[in-house]
Parts: sequence; structure tokens; C-alpha cells
Amino acid sequence: MKALAKLQAAPGLTMTDVPMPEVGHNDLLIKITKTAICGTDIHIWNWDEWSQKTIPVPMHVGHEYVGVVAGMGSEVQGFKIGQRVSGEGHITCGYCRNCRAGRRHLCRNTTGVGVNREGAFAEYLVIPAFNAFPIPDDISDDLASIFDPFGNAVHTALSFNLVGEDVLITGAGPIGIMAVAIAKHVGARHVVITDVNDYRLELAKKMGATRAVNVAKEDLKAVMQELHMSEGFDVGLEMSGNPQAFRQMLETMNHGGKVALLGIPPSNTAIDWNQVIFKGLEIKGIYGREMFETWYKMVALIQSGLDIRPIITHHFKVDDFEQGFAAMLSGQSGKVILDWQ
Ligand code: NAD
Ligand code: ZN
Repeated sequence: MKALAKLQAAPGLTMTDVPMPEVGHNDLLIKITKTAICGTDIHIWNWDEWSQKTIPVPMHVGHEYVGVVAGMGSEVQGFKIGQRVSGEGHITCGYCRNCRAGRRHLCRNTTGVGVNREGAFAEYLVIPAFNAFPIPDDISDDLASIFDPFGNAVHTALSFNLVGEDVLITGAGPIGIMAVAIAKHVGARHVVITDVNDYRLELAKKMGATRAVNVAKEDLKAVMQELHMSEGFDVGLEMSGNPQAFRQMLETMNHGGKVALLGIPPSNTAIDWNQVIFKGLEIKGIYGREMFETWYKMVALIQSGLDIRPIITHHFKVDDFEQGFAAMLSGQSGKVILDWQ
């Protein structure tokens, strides 16, 4: 079958031919319809330090997808051939304490589809049936293909009560922008998002941000005054992984504020801990999506009128994958979808 793989320890990906994956007795075979390009795939494309340490070569990558069930192992129940599915890309062990308690997103032995094992940029993908998530008929293939990053946004945004709160989101990448729409949808008052990329800030405005602030040109504290926010933000969602953005968030939080961290900063990032202590901030780290609460919430949010369609800015046939990666690398994109059919 056709697959988009890292064939050499070097930048780029190659369209290649690989054997069909084997279907174990608890597995689903999924025929891939659409995939989306994640920031992680860009790290892998660039072959940065993290990818060099993490990605086995040769291996095909990718973990954002939608497809249809094309086969299943003998033990699998509850799925039908032809059914549309996406899937949780974190494969959990099932035997650690958190897994056994139903807190699968906290599994200490998680492996990643398209990171530690073969991925979804291929004609077929095999995952444990446990990880597959059925897609209702009223949710499009385009939306289902981005459930993985949408789930990051939902998991982070719904970590704290946002009703009537003023929310700061740092980082207008695809996940930060989706978080804007979610926060507005569930009843936040002001949702302010920061970035240094005007294209993405414009998109965030389209998705409902009260103010989209380019922190390279504009003073966030002046924006807060303009919005009559004399005390600070109630909830912060860090979605840039940029240390400066995180520090700015801590400075502009109100006392008793709550902060959820999704962005992945360099491991030696320093902050002013006095901001955390004397303000009594609550800080929560976010990894992946809750299995499977986040997935049910994603469906429910869309079915209750949340519109995240504008985040999908580019579509390409998979044979034109180089154009897709170029769009992502340019920074002038939201989500980029590759069509496998
Ligand atoms: P992205 O890289 O597309 O977006 C990050 C944005 O931050 C960019 O638009 C960048 O311009 C912006 N930025 C840079 N400097 C800034 C500053 N000083 N202030 C404000 N914004 C600034 O990433 P994404 O795909 O949207 O993901 C968001 C973050 O979440 C990334 O750090 C990613 O690695 C991380 N992530 C974490 C998980 C998890 O499970 N914890 C999952 C997916 C992604
Ligand atoms: Zn586990």
C-alpha cells in the first residue's frame, strides 16, 4: 500500500510502498479517507532534535485522520465494516494504575500512532479497536480528520469553568484558534488571543476572539485596559510553547486564576514563581485528550452549534503532499488536509 514515510534520517518525507499492516485479534483495519498535518508532523518533516531522538527510521507517520472500517480482529465487537471512524492516537497499556482506574489519558506507558509506531499517512491503518471512535453521520470527513487537535483544544479549554470568565489564550496556532471558538461557545466573556503571526490572528478574529493581539507590535496590558479588565484574566490557556508567552500569561492573570498548559516549552524554561505563589494560581498540565470524554464532548459541541470549519484553510490530494507541508511551513495556514481518495 501507499504510505508517506521517513525513509532516511534527514528532512522531508517520501511517498513509498509498504506492506499492508497485520490485524491482531483486538484490532481494527481502517481504510484512510482524509488526513491532516499536525505541528508534530512538521517537527518530523524538519527532522529536528526531538524527531531524531524519537522517530524510528524507516517508518510512515501521521496521526490525524478519518477513515472507514475495512476489517477487524476476531475479538472486536461494536464496529461494522464501512463504518466511519477516527481514532485516539495515544495507545495506552491497559494495566498501569491510571489505565485500570479509567484515566487512560494519564497512562505512564503511552505510545503514539505515527510517532512510536506506524501512522495514518497510508492507505490503511491498524489500531486497537479500543482506540477507534465512531463518527456520527452529521459530522463531515473534514472535521473528523482534525478530531485529534480539536480534542487537544477541547480538553484544554474545558479544564476550567469558562462561563462569564475572561480568558487569555497564548498562541494562535490551529489549536489556540479552535480554543477561541470553544471558549466563546461555552460562555466566556472576553477571549483574548496572542501571537506574533498576523495571518493566524486574523483567523482567530474570524473564530470569535474579542481581541487578537500581535504581542510584537501591541501591548497586552493596554488591550486589557481598553476592555476594562482592571484585575486580570480569570483563565489562561497556554498554547504556544513559547516561554515569553507563558511569562506574559503569568503576569496578566488575576489572583486565583487558573492556567492550563498545552504548549510544550523547552525543558529548561524559567518562570517567576512568585507570580504563581502570591497570586495563588492553579496550573494544570494537559496531555492529549481524555479517553474518551473529550471525544464525546467534541461531537456534542459541534452538534450544539460550535463552528470550527474556518480553521481548515487548505486541501490537497495526497500526491501533492509537498504543497501541503509547504503551506504548513509558511505559517500562513490553519489546518491542512490531505485527501487519500
Ligand atoms: P503551532 O506551533 O502551530 O502554534 C504555536 C503558535 O504560537 C504559533 O502560531 C506561534 O507564532 C505562536 N507564538 C510564538 N511566539 C509567541 C509569543 N511570544 N506569544 C504568543 N504566541 C506565540 O502549534 P499548535 O499545533 O497549534 O499546537 C500548540 C502547542 O501545543 C504547541 O506547542 C504544540 O507542541 C503543543 N501540543 C501539545 C500537545 C499536548 O498533548 N500537550 C498536543 C498537541 C500540541
Ligand atoms: Zn497504562
